[in-house]
Amino acid sequence: MASVDRKEAARVLKTISTLLELHGENPHRVRALASAGRTVERLEGDLKELVQSGKVTEARGIGRGTAAVLAELVSGRKPEVLRELEAKTPPGVVELLSVAGLGPKRVRALWQDLGVTTPGELEYACLENRLVDLPGFGATSQNKVLEAVRFTLQARERYLLDVAWDTANEVGSLLGGRTGVGDALTVGEVRRACETVGVVELLVVTTDRATLGVALGEVLSELELEEPGVWAGKSATGVRCRVLAVDPQVAAAASLWHSAAERHLEMLQQRASGSGLRLGADGLWQGEERIEVGSEEELYERLGATWVPPELREGEDELERATAGLLSDLVRWEDIRGALHNHTTDSDGAATLAEMAAAAREMGWDYLGIADHSPAAYYANGLGGERLRDQWMRIDDWNREHPEIRLIKGLEADILPDGRLDVPLGCDEGLEYVVASVHSSFRLAEEAQTERILAAIRHPACRILGHPTGRLLLARPPYALDLERVLEECAERGIVVEINANAHRLDLSWRWARRALDLGVQLAINPDAHAVGGLGDVRWGVLLARKAGARRKDVVTTFGVGELAAAGLCS
Ligand SMILES: [Zn+2]
Ligand SMILES: [Zn+2]
Repeated sequence: MASVDRKEAARVLKTISTLLELHGENPHRVRALASAGRTVERLEGDLKELVQSGKVTEARGIGRGTAAVLAELVSGRKPEVLRELEAKTPPGVVELLSVAGLGPKRVRALWQDLGVTTPGELEYACLENRLVDLPGFGATSQNKVLEAVRFTLQARERYLLDVAWDTANEVGSLLGGRTGVGDALTVGEVRRACETVGVVELLVVTTDRATLGVALGEVLSELELEEPGVWAGKSATGVRCRVLAVDPQVAAAASLWHSAAERHLEMLQQRASGSGLRLGADGLWQGEERIEVGSEEELYERLGATWVPPELREGEDELERATAGLLSDLVRWEDIRGALHNHTTDSDGAATLAEMAAAAREMGWDYLGIADHSPAAYYANGLGGERLRDQWMRIDDWNREHPEIRLIKGLEADILPDGRLDVPLGCDEGLEYVVASVHSSFRLAEEAQTERILAAIRHPACRILGHPTGRLLLARPPYALDLERVLEECAERGIVVEINANAHRLDLSWRWARRALDLGVQLAINPDAHAVGGLGDVRWGVLLARKAGARRKDVVTTFGVGELAAAGLCS
């Protein structure tokens, strides 16, 4: 650290004060440092001289402690106290301090009481309504925090799939509404349904780049021309976008080129050169002559391959599987008949049983599995036996009165640290199925975590393994786990494995979902909805399942009630 000026010294004192407050240190010391910071900013004369002569302590509010910190600063060292504080504060917690409206006291409450250590975890905690009952917060404050933390997250490097997907559609439709601009096609990582996305990419087929450039100026901010025909800018919500203009005669090749992973393109290029052709973003060429191709399907056909759905263009074995007909009936949004992991106001949801049921019906579903939290999830108002039985009575009433949509009696039971499943005593019989989930002790060693989950899925009531790795995308890594062993056990016992469709989780990942399918495991695409709007998250799960190569029969939430009963998921 180079020697500092007054402004920088004041900033450091303020930072120390903030971190001390974050750690719940003596309020007098916190205030003293903050006010010393303000004094230092207004000092007259050379700071280094004032400190080294000891005169600085004559200024109001600068005691010996502050003077010692200043002495370290003016001699170019990072103050010891600052180094200690930084060492014991997770970087994500420091980042939380930059969320608008969150001071050290509130960040401390989020960190210590809710275990939130990153902005991503904070967003998720809001969606789970965990701030509602937290002292110093509440429902209104939770909404404000959610808005503020989302803003902070936007500024980051990558986006969750839902944000990127919605941005692509919005920018695409804004562009499509302008005269002289052709339809915009989503390409890149969004079209491939990647779990997180670095930049939203759109392709516009046009011969009039000037008009497109003008339209882009109205739709995107901070617009820059990266190279001829390629613009970069930001959407109204601040999401990074790239727009590529292509001529009509290369549209098919360009849409393939810009939506496939490099390895997929390499495999296609090999096929091309095998038949004396060359494939590029500028089309399919034989020598100096461009071969006319009208569609992606035709392009694949010219290369002796079968069209591969965009989600699967990752460069694995998708070309072989497409040829073998294994990718022809991937699960679709329209196939979904219900969902088996949803919360209500009985635990930590924001909508009542009746509201959730009505919303599911509105989506055209045949059933909704209610899986509120179990007692161990006390922070989420988990249900004990008595409240669970009360919920069952209301479910029975609902089912009698509303034959058009069936509610199913489930429970999201905590997997306790020792592997027991938190099913309230005497409730096994009345429950139609149990989702087993980890919500605590994320830091167990791999062997212990694996044994814990294996024990839980051996519980006779367990039918579904919920969010199997516990990851929160861009916020929390998966816990240490031998997932291969867990999936093998699920296959053996006929345990359904969840694709948690919440865009923050997408857990299993597509690669592990593919592995689960190879092992013969059935999947459930579950929104883990905590509000009516959450049900629609199933769409992200469908995209992920497609990316994993899942077909309708692989996904139990495409089943009707009869098939579901046959699979032991309702009675
Ligand atoms: Zn859960
Ligand atoms: Zn849940």
